[in-house]
Amino acid sequence: MIRRLVAMVLLALAPVACTSDEGAGPAGVGTEAATVTSATSTSIVGTTTSTSTTSSTTSTSSPTTSTLPADFLGEQVIGTSAGGLPITVSHRGTPGGTVVLVVGVIHGDENAGLAVLDELRTMALPHGIDLWLMEAMNPDGYAADVRGNANGVDLNRNFPHDWTPIAEPGDWQYSGAGPASEPETQAFIDFTEGLRPALTLWYHQDLYRVSPSDGPDGPLRRLYTEITGLPYETVSGGTYSGVAATWVRRSIPGAMSFIIELGPTLSVDEAVVHAGAVLAVAQKLL
Ligand SMILES: [Zn+2]
Repeated sequence: MIRRLVAMVLLALAPVACTSDEGAGPAGVGTEAATVTSATSTSIVGTTTSTSTTSSTTSTSSPTTSTLPADFLGEQVIGTSAGGLPITVSHRGTPGGTVVLVVGVIHGDENAGLAVLDELRTMALPHGIDLWLMEAMNPDGYAADVRGNANGVDLNRNFPHDWTPIAEPGDWQYSGAGPASEPETQAFIDFTEGLRPALTLWYHQDLYRVSPSDGPDGPLRRLYTEITGLPYETVSGGTYSGVAATWVRRSIPGAMSFIIELGPTLSVDEAVVHAGAVLAVAQKLL
């Protein structure tokens, strides 16, 4: 919890330009009016597969206390990171409904999306949504507040779709020794191929936009931006092979998946809006 608070403060003080996913735009374009808060401090990362969730939420503006919702369905560890940390997902909603997976952190130093997951953990869900929340696909990077995992691999360049070697160990975009070389990537693939989510969303920072798409998820992306006010603008300028969202779209039949680039920070109020956007997009798939 302390680590996250420290990370949030650091993010607020020194926003780091992300060059993330389906493309990277010029650094520093994230100009969202930053509301500096400590956001939330919920952690569900544990070492058990039972209902070991503990939640405590603090905020400078609207203190709340999270409790398990009535539709909570459990928590499971889907794998272990290169550094030996559990990769955990929690599950709530309507079993057998439209499966929605939300990933808070894949680049470890981009964790503002966790505030959205904190809201999704407890807010009322429309009936029919089978919601899975993965706080951190990259627990090593999150713990150390660095982009890659404990092997220095950018997990968002490590997925097997269109994987190409990028850079070397130590480089910020290092793709790993081979496609799905990292245990986090393998665990995510195994889990997702079994789960077959209709929608998978990924949070990054801090380009402050959602990239348009001509594909079937284009209208969903547009809706998300209309609700949140994020620009609907192309992200470009980097090397984008081995990207997780692309792998999901190409590998899971019928799957929608896209990336939300948040700004440097996200207030609690903004997180509530984003959580509502997630559910609005999900409802389009019911
Ligand atoms: Zn990123």
